[in-house]
Amino acid sequence: MLRPMLGRMMDFPLSLSHLLERARTQFPRGEIVTRRADRSLVRASYADFHRRALQLAAALVRLGVRPGDRVATLCWNHQQHLEAYFGVPALGAVVHTLNLRLHPSELGYIARHAEDKVVIVDRSLLPLFEQLRADVRSIERVIVVADGGAAPEGTLDYEALIAAEAPLEALPTLDERSAAMICYTSGTTGNPKGVVYSHRSTVLHALVACTTDGIGIGERDVVLPVVPMFHAAAWGLPFAAVATGAKIVMPGPHLDPPSLLELMASEGVTVAAGVPTIWLGILALLDESPTRWDLSRVRNMVIGGSAAPASMIEGFSRRHKLEVLHAWGMTETNPLGTVSRVARALEGASPEAQLAARASQGRAVPFVETRHVGEDGRPLPWDGETMGELEVRGPWVASSYFGDEGADRFTQDGWFKTGDVVTIDAHGYVRITDRAKDVIKSGGEWISSVALENALMSHPAVLEAAVFAARHPKWDERPLAAVVLKGGKTASRDELLAHLGGRFARFWLPDDVLFVEQIPRTSTGKFLKSKLRELYGEHLMKR
Ligand code: ADP
Repeated sequence: MLRPMLGRMMDFPLSLSHLLERARTQFPRGEIVTRRADRSLVRASYADFHRRALQLAAALVRLGVRPGDRVATLCWNHQQHLEAYFGVPALGAVVHTLNLRLHPSELGYIARHAEDKVVIVDRSLLPLFEQLRADVRSIERVIVVADGGAAPEGTLDYEALIAAEAPLEALPTLDERSAAMICYTSGTTGNPKGVVYSHRSTVLHALVACTTDGIGIGERDVVLPVVPMFHAAAWGLPFAAVATGAKIVMPGPHLDPPSLLELMASEGVTVAAGVPTIWLGILALLDESPTRWDLSRVRNMVIGGSAAPASMIEGFSRRHKLEVLHAWGMTETNPLGTVSRVARALEGASPEAQLAARASQGRAVPFVETRHVGEDGRPLPWDGETMGELEVRGPWVASSYFGDEGADRFTQDGWFKTGDVVTIDAHGYVRITDRAKDVIKSGGEWISSVALENALMSHPAVLEAAVFAARHPKWDERPLAAVVLKGGKTASRDELLAHLGGRFARFWLPDDVLFVEQIPRTSTGKFLKSKLRELYGEHLMKR
């Protein structure tokens, strides 16, 4: 790297402690609202949050937590979880969010791997925690967020613990490259891998998320992270919200559509974020009762984690005047990578072309670079047609995994291999056609399951559809569709196939349609196609 003349600006560290301090000095009256397990709402100010986060930091120091130690959370989205997000890194320790939807044995593996020393756990999740505790020798202390109840013997009550402390005063000046958080990938292939976010990556990510063409968050916003705080740091929204002083609304364990809609209306939510399943449920309910909730303040509904069907984006917009912002990211990218807004160059384009752009995974945000490569590793043209594996690089993209596993995901020339198969068009829009492990290769040709799913979900009777590879005697693999119909609606196999006909080459059409009650999902809400293959992968061999 060249350095022909040195800049003379301060090397001021990009640390989360600065954002925490700013919460006190600039936005002491900022608000954090939490829905507790008993459904009651608790309100705190940013001044309270600042004090309590540093009381937590002081308590952890007293318990023997040292810089670099891992403090795990096993919690829903709530105020105390947010305090851990900032209080733990403030002392130089590392927050490790445990995904409460994983199997106890997987959680045990992850907690052992991260060598968690202290665990902060919701009282309602203690039965889950008890199933892994004995397997994780590194755990020295258990702190319980008792939510109005009592912390059991042998554990520490979060509220009592912090009440006894003065806020930690002498915060260490941290190198911005030091670790702030560890998140594990959910490991649908192989063991889960730890991604270690630094203060610097988290701060830069938050700033870019706040930009108008990013997610767009400011002090006047009211942010509802429906996406769990154990799923890629709730997509960085808690950090973006605190950076700007936005009001934060935490849904606790109540993630059903009526509870969320009620919260959005009563708290005046402007930005909400979650995975497609959550929004499908919300859209269905809004279609039933379009005027029951006043959502006039909602400006932006961020959808990511898996592909948001175009029909859903359009349904929200046309029937309810609600704007969806489709975003792509991964645990390995802190997680925001691309955001889909209609580019200036597309302003005069047809509504269909604009919808197609919005339903794509979008264009890379500043400082994330994208390319897609063929099997020989060479970059492919941005022609909107050629499919290849997406690779990314940037200041909030992982450079290696914790423990140096999965080294094959990082290229020699400094890119991260996402495992997503995409096209990129001349405007830079990335379109995911599949995850590499789920691609359907029929007679040597790739068929995009995501494109087929999108088209199936635009049929009025279809609630959800997953297309996956089934073994075939002649073509190796052929696409098969698993479809969940909307309540009270019917559609036949032939009708659905006719709906797809005309939009795709004949050989892309699924060989059969299976009507199912539900589609199996991963712990982060993605279609679990390995399970579909396990259940129905031989379907075409038997015919
Ligand atoms: P895990 O891989 O552990 O399930 P991640 O949340 O890190 O969890 O998953 C990242 C993957 O999710 C991406 O590689 C991509 O396949 C998928 N994904 C994320 N956002 C989108 C999106 N908007 N559209 C399609 N797929 C998405």
